[in-house]
Amino acid sequence: MTDLRIADIRVTPIAFYDPPLLNNAGCHQPFALRSVIEVETEDGVIGLGESYGTEDVLAGLAAMAPSCRGLAVTDLNGLWARTATALPEAPTRLRLRVGGAVEVAMWDALGKATGQRVVDLLGGQVRASVPFSAYLFYKFAGHANEAPDDWGEVLSPEQLVEEARSMVDAYGFKAIKLKAGVLEPLAEIAGLEALRDAFPDAPLRIDPNGGWHVHTVLDLLPRLEGLVEYLEDPTKGIDGNAVIQAATDVPLATNMYVVEPSHLPPNMKHDAFRVILSDHHYWGGLKASRDLAEICRIWGLGLSMHSNSHLGISLAAMTHLAAATPNLTYDCDTHQPWQTDEVIEGGKLPIVNGAVAVPDGPGLGVTLDRAELKRLNGNFEALEYRTRDDATEMRKHWPDWQYGRPKF
Ligand SMILES: [Mg+2]
Repeated sequence: MTDLRIADIRVTPIAFYDPPLLNNAGCHQPFALRSVIEVETEDGVIGLGESYGTEDVLAGLAAMAPSCRGLAVTDLNGLWARTATALPEAPTRLRLRVGGAVEVAMWDALGKATGQRVVDLLGGQVRASVPFSAYLFYKFAGHANEAPDDWGEVLSPEQLVEEARSMVDAYGFKAIKLKAGVLEPLAEIAGLEALRDAFPDAPLRIDPNGGWHVHTVLDLLPRLEGLVEYLEDPTKGIDGNAVIQAATDVPLATNMYVVEPSHLPPNMKHDAFRVILSDHHYWGGLKASRDLAEICRIWGLGLSMHSNSHLGISLAAMTHLAAATPNLTYDCDTHQPWQTDEVIEGGKLPIVNGAVAVPDGPGLGVTLDRAELKRLNGNFEALEYRTRDDATEMRKHWPDWQYGRPKF
């Protein structure tokens, strides 16, 4: 019998190149911070996880990981008990992130040790590939004091359509999402309408990240209705979004205000969001995300998946999870087209016809490229920042820029 107990957990912080993508909080920095988690069993099987590489998560992992030695990789209750003990003062949000990072690696180790895919361990495959959406951003041509990247500047409707065309041609995406909350709302709606003209059949979404006032959204509703399949976090908070949801049949979606279990009851009470954009990195891993899907099914909520900047271990985990989730009602989000670095062997997972096939092989079906891990860790060590700060980055381009949520 294979020994499934954890002998060691290694956490390697990494930084990978990220283009100057814009959002309500500012501009992406030149490098995204991430971490790679390796759970090694006493038999030497290595399970992989990927999570945030910000200071709080790295400190939490450093405090919690040693306490998992001796834990069976099947013992999720033990994982959460040890997480609570190791991080007694941490908010729920951080505990879920830290425990969830290790949880994914435990599933991968279990799958690799027993010759089973994670999708099968999570309840079985209901789809062979997982559809993702084209994730469009307004962006600067290049980072401050750097040459333009291949995508170039995207600040106008024409440039936005060109960005969408490149992404759809390269990956075959069906649905299109626009990250908004950056320009004046009317300019962003004009961008969305240009996308509608260029892609008449594509389901569209817009995500201002809570950047619009309630009255602004109410004024814009006549133009948004019939244009978008859902409206993502148009304004701030459960209460504000409930006012909007009461005024429209377009479902509101969120990855900002229903992000842990305690947020679900008030959301149901106020009917703020009818679509939950799950994310295993912050809901507490794969089991918690399957539980969330079941809650959505029972309560009649739509379900899709949120994405931050990520690499291939995360995409593999997202794909296994989504392939094991019957009630996935919308195409998932991924930042993968923006990504030029990779940490798994063989390079980026292919996106074909807008979908990622469930990787073959046991566990998550991906292995670590140790040379790339070392290089990306070198990036991290050389960086002068340890937290994400989009606002400071934004002011390098637009010195007078002010953060506001809501802003417009
Ligand atoms: Mg969002």
